[in-house]
Amino acid sequence: MSTFKAPKGTYDLIPPFSAQYLAVREAISAPLRKAGYGYVETPGFEDVELFARGVGESTDIVTKEMFTLTTKGGANLALRPEGTASVLRAALEANLHKAGGLPVKLWYSGSYYRYERPQKGRYRHFSQVGAEAIGAEDPALDAELIILADQAYRSLGLRNFRILLNSLGDKECRPVYREALQGFLRGLDLDEETLRRAEINPLRVLDDKRPDVQKQLVDAPLLRDHLCEACKAYHEEVRSLITAAGVAFEDDLKLVRGLDYYTRTTFEFVHDGLGSQSAVGGGGRYDGLSEMIGGPALPSVGWALGVDRTVLALEAEGVELDIPPVTEVYAVPLGDEAKRVLFGIVTQLRTADIAADFSYGGKGMKAAMKGANRSGARLALIAGDRDLADGVVQLKDMESGEQTAVALEGLVETVRAKLA
Ligand code: ATP
Ligand code: MG
Repeated sequence: MSTFKAPKGTYDLIPPFSAQYLAVREAISAPLRKAGYGYVETPGFEDVELFARGVGESTDIVTKEMFTLTTKGGANLALRPEGTASVLRAALEANLHKAGGLPVKLWYSGSYYRYERPQKGRYRHFSQVGAEAIGAEDPALDAELIILADQAYRSLGLRNFRILLNSLGDKECRPVYREALQGFLRGLDLDEETLRRAEINPLRVLDDKRPDVQKQLVDAPLLRDHLCEACKAYHEEVRSLITAAGVAFEDDLKLVRGLDYYTRTTFEFVHDGLGSQSAVGGGGRYDGLSEMIGGPALPSVGWALGVDRTVLALEAEGVELDIPPVTEVYAVPLGDEAKRVLFGIVTQLRTADIAADFSYGGKGMKAAMKGANRSGARLALIAGDRDLADGVVQLKDMESGEQTAVALEGLVETVRAKLA
């Protein structure tokens, strides 16, 4: 062991476990890629102001959770705590919204950083796969994203997740509701910090997880009763499109999200096997964000799913992903000449798109065959000097144990036929 350990709140992805992460990222992005979303990759850090404005000055993310740094040149940067602000910034910078039709549909996958109190499912470095559909106000787009996330989770074999859905209203109706809620909150028995929050961002108080706060919120006014006609109709259309797609959801009238820029459709994916870190993903509409970061009006909708918590959800449900062994053929040379010949064959196999590995380090037969077993290969190619003199190698079926001599001539094709 080295003197160093992974920093607090982080962990390494080590084989074979790491293969699950690749599989989860693949499964979440596959439905997006088939639905017209293009891949976008942005830097791991941005101007700190982008997040202050784009995520919101009053959010936990900006006030408590950002990793910030000042460069030698004096620039104030932050490690990205989330993806939406960066992706929108990139789309605006590249003028994607002017290039062709709207919406611009993008997906991303990467590392995110938040200075949090580490616990199971809550880390300082974690990974998300996300999607954003920028520049269109259409309930079918909100529905599309929810349906695609549902498909992704189902394709992984997850069943015990739920979709919570709500509408946060828009700039017409939300201010009226905000005031009604503020009036209600002022009459409660709340601590200083929560009262302050009620003044800056009262909706977030609804999201308070403490039971003594929740108890007082039972009779809080609900946004649903304040939605304007346009928001109501929009929300009904989203609900009926999702229902028609056979995707089950629950109306959660108190669902708000930590980020300031959400409008109208808001949703969260929760998993019941994860204890208090139950949110595996979330998203919604953010019609005002573009203008908040200096762009034109571009109503948009998106989500981000947490890869770490999705892997924990798979564990909680006992789902074993079907991850095929990486190596199909394992070569075991016995002697120097065999080493040269088999090494050449391994290269040929790889060129022919057959996954092959090799016993390195001049091991004896027994240790080398252990390596073959560990690799999960279906076939082993074993050769010593005598085999080579006869123009053959021994081809061993690792499952049945059956071994036959096959000609060196045309070996790649023989192996391919065996694997088929
Ligand atoms: P929470 O309420 O659990 O703090 P959040 O609202 O901060 O979640 P989002 O900003 O919506 O989370 O991020 C989307 C997803 O990213 C979450 O549902 C979760 O799966 C994942 N995520 C967020 N923060 C962390 C973290 N610190 N560690 C691991 N995963 C995280
Ligand atoms: Mg959080």
